Amino acid sequence: MQATLIISLDFELFWGMQDCSTLEKYQDNVLGGRKAIPKLLEMFQKHNIHATWATVGFQFAQSFDEVQKYFPKEKLRPAYKNRKLSTYNCFPYIGKSEDEALCFYAPSLIKKIAQYDGQEIASHTFSHYYCKEPGQTLEQFRADMTAAINIAEKYGYELTSVVLPRNQCTSRYITILRELGFTAYRDEENDWIHKKISFRPLMRILRLMDVYVPLTGQGGYVPENENGIINLMGSRMYKPFFWPLSILERMKVHRIKKQMLHAAKRGLVFHLWWHPHNIGIMTEYHLKQLEEILCYYDELREKYNMRSMNMREAAEEILNG
Ligand SMILES: [Zn+2]
Repeated sequence: MQATLIISLDFELFWGMQDCSTLEKYQDNVLGGRKAIPKLLEMFQKHNIHATWATVGFQFAQSFDEVQKYFPKEKLRPAYKNRKLSTYNCFPYIGKSEDEALCFYAPSLIKKIAQYDGQEIASHTFSHYYCKEPGQTLEQFRADMTAAINIAEKYGYELTSVVLPRNQCTSRYITILRELGFTAYRDEENDWIHKKISFRPLMRILRLMDVYVPLTGQGGYVPENENGIINLMGSRMYKPFFWPLSILERMKVHRIKKQMLHAAKRGLVFHLWWHPHNIGIMTEYHLKQLEEILCYYDELREKYNMRSMNMREAAEEILNG
């Protein structure tokens, strides 16, 4: 296979954070993330980057009146044991349209993204659905993904790639994605920290260290065709500035470049991902770092014929193989 850089973004506004932060605390990140998106698009265009934007289904709607038409029936909504996780609970409080609720709706931004060459509108489920949470069922997941497909279709977007929230992938859920016509998903990083460490605090520390020093390998891989759906697992999350370890920022960028070089030399896929809200604070700083990474990609393209593909393009090539 030709060496390939895949970039995907989990475009979720506040939906992915509503259970772990408050809007007061986090809205600067989300609003800053919105402002960063046009700049990212310009940067992607300059470097010929094709990226995948995994978007929460709620965000396609112009208004509450519209989004509620796509809600699954009450009993087909995710019945998490932990009720705090249900994003449906937010609607009474968030405002009725994009103008009033910039942290929850984004039809204007989705339209803008889609106008740029090579940018794929993909799915981050309809309601930011958690596949491994107790209480929810496979049928509720199917209803959620069906709603995501339907609301996207209304605006002319055909969804074929998925990033599941918190990368909670299990084979029965992936089977449903395949049945619904999806051709690609992004599984979590396939390394020993993710596979072998189940004690979460330890896993977190190791994953954090791995951002700066190579505890795991280089993250490049040959994608697998899982009976018609392609697993385009992540190789590395681009971690935003983290002040306790700010002294290691150069090591972070260096590590990403090393991983890219490894994939470029061996004809592997390297999949970099993040959330727009990760760069919503200190945006210029982060954009500069990302620009450095993309300039390095330009070098690898020249030298090793590495290319940029979004998830749909990569999956299509493999499926048409
Ligand atoms: Zn998410």
